[in-house]
Amino acid sequence: MNIRHVLQLPNLLEVKSIICVQPHPDDNEVGAAGTLRILKDHHCDITFVTVTDGRHGTSAVFQNPEELVSIRRKERIRAGELLGVTRHIECNFADGGNYTEQDLIAPLVHIFREIKPDMVMTIDPWMPYEAHPDHVKVGHATATAAMFAGNLTMFQEVGHPHSIPQIAFYGTSYPNTMIDITPYFETKMQAIYTHESQFANEDWPLISQFFRMQAAEQYNKGIQSMETLPHAQTVQDGLVDRYGEVFKVLALRELHFFPNAINS
Ligand SMILES: [Zn+2]
Repeated sequence: MNIRHVLQLPNLLEVKSIICVQPHPDDNEVGAAGTLRILKDHHCDITFVTVTDGRHGTSAVFQNPEELVSIRRKERIRAGELLGVTRHIECNFADGGNYTEQDLIAPLVHIFREIKPDMVMTIDPWMPYEAHPDHVKVGHATATAAMFAGNLTMFQEVGHPHSIPQIAFYGTSYPNTMIDITPYFETKMQAIYTHESQFANEDWPLISQFFRMQAAEQYNKGIQSMETLPHAQTVQDGLVDRYGEVFKVLALRELHFFPNAINS
């Protein structure tokens, strides 16, 4: 029995306001661009929260990291326009900086209480072998902040409580939801490539092929597991090659003292 069914929570594509918290300026596109573009068709209000400034995300050497920060800000806004992002919020922590999870929680609680989303999305910090501290810290802090945003007595200095029913993690090793993004897969690739400082280089042919193969694999695995992935949603549009994005979607209640969440 899935607690999300018991609570009658809407499926991922039915939410009307979502906040996507990303460690770096391009993570939301890599993890969820296709799904977000579909959500825009469904008139969902989409907020991007970008935690770090991405100053170290380059293979080229920039004389001044501030120059790269500025370039990446423009790339992020252009990519967001392709997906229909409603608003951007920057936390401006240093990429790879020595901030802690605790430093992130109050600012995120504040944002969640201001925007009042019905879903939060972020990177899965429990992905085995994830070594980048920004991904681990941001994923953990987002989950914690989503949980505390509804608390009546915590963080009273940053707004009134707002309960967020569910959270979705991309970049997950334990997916329970597959979204068929076939109609928007090329838009996803375009949105990713908009981050030219990261992808407009000699590696792009290989990387783009990897993204394509991964999306096809995620679609096929999702379809094969329809029985165990009850939230899989597909569309019929006559396209032959099909692509998916996968997520771990949990009720907020599953983020605390809920051993079966890994199987949810
Ligand atoms: Zn990242």
